[in-house]
Amino acid sequence: MNRVFQEKDLVLATHNLGKIEEFKHLFGKVDFNINNIGQYSWVSPEESGMSFWENSLIKAREASKITGMVSLADDSGLCVEILKGAPGIYSADWATLSDGSRDFEFATNKLVKEIERTGCVEPVIAYFICSLILYWPDNHFEKFEGRIHGEIIWPGRGREGHGYDPVFLPNGYKETFGEMDRWKKNKISHRGLAVKNLMEACF
Ligand code: IMP
Repeated sequence: MNRVFQEKDLVLATHNLGKIEEFKHLFGKVDFNINNIGQYSWVSPEESGMSFWENSLIKAREASKITGMVSLADDSGLCVEILKGAPGIYSADWATLSDGSRDFEFATNKLVKEIERTGCVEPVIAYFICSLILYWPDNHFEKFEGRIHGEIIWPGRGREGHGYDPVFLPNGYKETFGEMDRWKKNKISHRGLAVKNLMEACF
């Protein structure tokens, strides 16, 4: 049996504005407060885990410890088959510049170069994955996962979304994630699926 969330407050363990917007949109109208961790002096912990689960757990545990609230953390990324799953847990790192800022045009160029180096012919099979953890201050946690399969296309298309969205074309769709509005993306995305599983089990 999954533990049911019955608290008045939930904190999102992320500073990523794109993710915060998507989570709030996915939860819709709820009878508890969804708090941003930005109000607390929370520095995103080093994601030293070797898997999406481990990284998600590190963030969730830290956020709950600092705020005393139930926290929700996700670790997500893009896995490209021909690159043996890269960038995977390093999806954000691929976008990180030497001054610490993030540039996804840079990350996307790197991704395309790496793919071209393999001599891969289309389609370039890939999936987005989201590992979600709901973590209580007494150290109990529940975990959920969502995946969306598709392919990498370039040049990228669209200005919606965030991260690698413009170069990801989900299977069965003509629009990239970068061309989809938030409603459409959230219905099918890795994060949308993981949140759906979470809502069904714990809310
Ligand atoms: P995290 O914050 O460590 O989970 O980093 C996840 C990284 O994966 C993000 O910074 C993006 O690079 C990428 N990513 C995860 N989800 C998405 C998505 O829905 N669209 C585009 N990129 C994503």
